[in-house]
Amino acid sequence: MTFALEEEAIALLLRSPRLEVSQIMRLLDVSDAEFRAMIKRNARIAALIDARRAGTLEAPQAEPVQCPACDEWFLPYGAARFCSDPCRNLGRLAVGGRRRTR
Ligand SMILES: [Zn+2]
Repeated sequence: MTFALEEEAIALLLRSPRLEVSQIMRLLDVSDAEFRAMIKRNARIAALIDARRAGTLEAPQAEPVQCPACDEWFLPYGAARFCSDPCRNLGRLAVGGRRRTR
């Protein structure tokens, strides 16, 4: 995952009130130091952290899910399981066993 993509994913997950920050760091394999650096670097992440602390976080319409084909986090439309058409096609061929635990 590149820096930018990782921060995208973090910002997305931080919008979910159901996920703890520690859970998000574990999901994306981000260390404490990396996470603090992201908060400094990324105003969106900083604002989300502030909102979580203040309890003013607004729940998104949909919960972010991880695409089973490319591992990218995204907000699904309806019951979509994959982030994009290429992944859906890939998923038809390859995905079957990989379950999320939670
Ligand atoms: Zn995907």
